[in-house]
Amino acid sequence: MEISRRSFVKWMIAGAASASPFGCAPAGKGASPRSRAAALSSEANQVCHDLRDGLMKAFPPPSRAVDVVVVGGGPSGLAAAERCFGSDFLLLEKEPNVGGNAWSESWNGLDYCTGSAWLSLDNDEVWALFKRWNLVPPVIQGNDSAHFDGKWIKDFWNSDPDYPSYAQLPYPKSVSDDFRRFIRETAKFDRVKDADKLDGMAFSEVFAGYDPRIRQYWDYFGPSNWGARTQDTSALVGLTAVHEWVPCERRTFEGGLGTVSRRLFDGFPESQKKRFITEAAVFGVRRDGKRVNVSFLKDGRPETVSAKAAILCVPKYLARFLLSDLPADQGAAMAKMRYAPYLVYNFCFDRVVWNLNFDNWAIGARHFTDFVPADWITHADGGDLSRKQIITVYAPKTEAARADLLDDEEVLEEAHAAGDELCGRFFPSWADHLAEVRVYRRGHAMPMSSPGSFTRLQPVARRDNPPIYLAHSDNSGAVSDMYEAALGAIKAAEKALTHV
Ligand SMILES: Cc1cc2nc3c(=O)[nH]c(=O)nc-3n(C[C@H](O)[C@H](O)[C@H](O)COP(=O)(O)OP(=O)(O)OC[C@H]3O[C@@H](n4cnc5c(N)ncnc54)[C@H](O)[C@@H]3O)c2cc1C
Repeated sequence: MEISRRSFVKWMIAGAASASPFGCAPAGKGASPRSRAAALSSEANQVCHDLRDGLMKAFPPPSRAVDVVVVGGGPSGLAAAERCFGSDFLLLEKEPNVGGNAWSESWNGLDYCTGSAWLSLDNDEVWALFKRWNLVPPVIQGNDSAHFDGKWIKDFWNSDPDYPSYAQLPYPKSVSDDFRRFIRETAKFDRVKDADKLDGMAFSEVFAGYDPRIRQYWDYFGPSNWGARTQDTSALVGLTAVHEWVPCERRTFEGGLGTVSRRLFDGFPESQKKRFITEAAVFGVRRDGKRVNVSFLKDGRPETVSAKAAILCVPKYLARFLLSDLPADQGAAMAKMRYAPYLVYNFCFDRVVWNLNFDNWAIGARHFTDFVPADWITHADGGDLSRKQIITVYAPKTEAARADLLDDEEVLEEAHAAGDELCGRFFPSWADHLAEVRVYRRGHAMPMSSPGSFTRLQPVARRDNPPIYLAHSDNSGAVSDMYEAALGAIKAAEKALTHV
């Protein structure tokens, strides 16, 4: 029987976050898992869509005044707000909890992530920041495994062309040799000197003349890590990943980087937490003389707060609608930035089903790219195998599929298809141990590292317009990541405080 038809498996669907303790609405009592899940909750996107459609027109006069307003409570907003502790600031977040795309929840006491999985701290500034936060995650054991035609290869990708994994490919030796040749030959690109040129090129161009399975591997890796297949990826980003991501030291907590957001926020003093307002969706950031008015909806009512400075920690696709007087070139650069929609599934099992590697690439899968055991960092391939286990499954989508995410039935259909593929085609033995599935959807979750984004669009799109300062993980860095987001937001907060 297909896993999607098993009526005892609970399927729950949610947006980035929702009001229940699990971030999911509870399942109802309908006849089938599909009908039970169809009525469930979603990300708070209505205000953003009304803003895009020009429907948000009522900007009430300010009812309060502060020095700094931080818009958005993801990792950048948290970092910016923390830098403002001790001053008169306010953080406005549209969801019921902070954390954005880095948020963890739990099932039976086990933490899992609904987005960001891991980071690297191999930079002095980043290391110092996470040490100061007392949040240095342990190192992930092993590399990634990959599936090719029925065979899982442990610790597969490695930038060393002589790494033994390539000999294990279930193909003729000429294919393994081609993987090695690809690594050797692409190492000759000068990623520092030719950074501009490579960033303007599509990654797909460097695969000409090699076995197509090499590009296929990166067509899975890219969408999950930076939102884009090879034809939509900057060659600079792709080549950097090929040669630098493994072996770089990767770190995480049980439950992924959501645990960083959660622990960071939990550790904030209560006096400062009072300055965080959730379920407050900002719909306008407008200059008012030397000040800035930030308008938001709270409990269905529009309000405006007047500030000496504002820090926007939201993605540029939204920032350009929030800001009323953007210079034309800046608005155009923001409009050109691309974002991939994303589904993330957490499959909850009553026993351990997987202990080969942390990140696992299901090359050939149609409904997801990779999966991560949420507790790998604690147990790696050991521990009590009868313990419960959560597998976080990543399913980045194409931009064309964005509208489908607004439809509960479509989302559930996709989740069922992924479940059938994971617990049917790939691992039939898992089906008997599946207890629950939690589905998270996000419409524009992943800033795509498309050609030109890093060197041409970002520098224009992130320009400050004092007293308005821009942050977010799409501000800087070749790919969207948490540490870049946090460091950038701290700098934006410092500029805002200096302005104040
Ligand atoms: C599936 C997935 C996997 C990822 N994996 C990794 C990973 O492994 N490692 C990594 O480093 N990064 C990863 N990322 C990137 C990750 O998004 C960033 O590291 C991090 O979440 C960026 O934080 P941020 O605060 O800049 O943005 P976001 O997380 O996007 O936060 C923006 C916040 O603004 C809020 N907001 C939006 N509009 C409004 C409004 N109108 N009013 C008020 N608030 C608003 C949102 O609700 C959200 O809380 C992943 C992303 C996704 C989607």
